[in-house]
Amino acid sequence: MDKTAPLLYEEPLAAVTLETPPDLDRLRARLDEYMTQHGLRSTAQRRLVTETFFSSTGHLTIDDVLERVRERNPKVGYATVYRTLKLLAESGLAYERHFGDGASRYEVAREDEHHDHLICLDCGKIVEFEDDEIERLQVALAEREGFVLKRHKHELYGLCPRCRERERDG
Ligand SMILES: [Zn+2]
Ligand SMILES: [Zn+2]
Repeated sequence: MDKTAPLLYEEPLAAVTLETPPDLDRLRARLDEYMTQHGLRSTAQRRLVTETFFSSTGHLTIDDVLERVRERNPKVGYATVYRTLKLLAESGLAYERHFGDGASRYEVAREDEHHDHLICLDCGKIVEFEDDEIERLQVALAEREGFVLKRHKHELYGLCPRCRERERDG
C-alpha cells in the first residue's frame, strides 16, 4: 500500500505530537460555542473546573480534577466537577476513558490528534502511543469488511516494566 495515499480516516495521523500543548483559546472558544448552542450557562465554578482540566495533561479521574480544583477553590463540590466533565465529554472537548478499573478517566481532546493506550494491569500506568503501521492496518481491515472508519479505540493491557520486574523479584 502506498504510504502517502489518503486514508479513509477522519483524523489526520500524527498531525500533532502527543507533547503539543492543547490550544487553550481554541478549546475555550469551542466550549463557548457549544454552551451557547445548548442554552447552557457558564458559572464561575464551572469555568474553574474547565480551566483546570484544560491545563492538565494525562488521564484524570473526577477525584483527580476535584483535588486540583479545590487547591484554588475549596468550595467546589464533586457534583460540579462530575457534571462539568460530562459536559466536556458530550461537547467533544474531553474523551472519557474506561481502563477496566471501574473509574472514568478524562483527557483533553485535542483537535487533529489521536492516540491509543497501553495500560498496566498491576499499577495502572498508562502509556499513550500512536503508530502509523497499526493505524494503517486498522483502516485496511475495516475496508476489507466494507467499513469506513470514523473512530476507534485501541487499548492494550499488560504489565509495565516496573511491575514485570517486581513480579520477577517477588
Ligand atoms: Zn505497572
Ligand atoms: Zn490518552
